[in-house]
Amino acid sequence: MTGRGNFNFLGVEVEPGGRVKTQLELGEGPAGNDRNIPVYIMNGEKPGPVLALVAGVHGDELNGVSVVHHLIHGDDHIAGTDDDFISLSEMSGTLICVPVVNIEGMLLQQREAPDNRDINRLFPGKVGGNQSQRIAHELFASVVKNSDYLIDLHSAPQSRTNLPHIRADFDNSEAMTLARSFGTRIILHSKGPEGSLRKEATNAGTPAILLEAGSAHRFELEAVHSGIEGVLNVMSGIGMITRDTRMPAVRMLVRRSKWARAEGGGLLHSMVSPGDHVTKGDVIAHVTDPFGASTQTVVSPRTGIIIGLAVNPLVRTGDPIANIVLCSKSRWKRSQEEHTSLDPEEEEVVDEESLDDA
Ligand SMILES: [Zn+2]
Repeated sequence: MTGRGNFNFLGVEVEPGGRVKTQLELGEGPAGNDRNIPVYIMNGEKPGPVLALVAGVHGDELNGVSVVHHLIHGDDHIAGTDDDFISLSEMSGTLICVPVVNIEGMLLQQREAPDNRDINRLFPGKVGGNQSQRIAHELFASVVKNSDYLIDLHSAPQSRTNLPHIRADFDNSEAMTLARSFGTRIILHSKGPEGSLRKEATNAGTPAILLEAGSAHRFELEAVHSGIEGVLNVMSGIGMITRDTRMPAVRMLVRRSKWARAEGGGLLHSMVSPGDHVTKGDVIAHVTDPFGASTQTVVSPRTGIIIGLAVNPLVRTGDPIANIVLCSKSRWKRSQEEHTSLDPEEEEVVDEESLDDA
């Protein structure tokens, strides 16, 4: 919680109602250039919790970057104007916004840091460690340790796309409160890999959830919009702002989902999109030879919703094609078409294969 007074971030004082641009120092790059992680602090006029918004831990996952940009500046990309989503005079507490953690990965258009390590397996980082461990440490020691809650914004890797959904540890009640308030129709259970920001932050006492939305290398309107709405819903849920939240009529808590896989290699022609409902036995993709002739069809192994989809046409035997969550057609239709301001109906979906196996 922050009081009505200044918010102090690494010696930088942010007055109530104030905005400050600052940065985490990472030492120097090959040209002797300063390397840093930009941080934007928005301090509300009223006391309340500290929420961290973190994007671009994976340098090629850009939808979350755009989510943070919009929350800082509004749709016109100018802070302090009428279209801003957040009014600091009305806000309780503080937002710590990190639009891009892995700046150099972003410039290289890659997931990893320049040393080809995945920063999201190295939290809480290490003082005096390699360059990726130092990035992880700087973020953890400053942003995570100074926050009450954290939202980590991601997308699918380059070869796939995701229907916007939240991943959270169902066994952590605080994280689940955040996950429910975000307002996606689907929440997947996942404790997160060892060394991931979400897992280590939660273990360190800062409950964290992760948004998976869209694909890498893109600003995608639908994915970005889901992120903006979700963050504002969470801010409302933890008392930072007031807003009329609209929740789906039905929310699915998914313990496990299942991938339909290619049983042969070739070129993939997908017949479905994320969010589509499919019936067991439906043809969801053709795999062809180099001439375009079908060599096999990929059939849905279950009745449910496509929440993840391969977008790279090149497939090898065993590659994941579509991630499908069990769900009846009528239930999915309701969750899409009806909204409520109350707690949605909840359905727990249990399946035999973990989403982490992809
Ligand atoms: Zn990611």
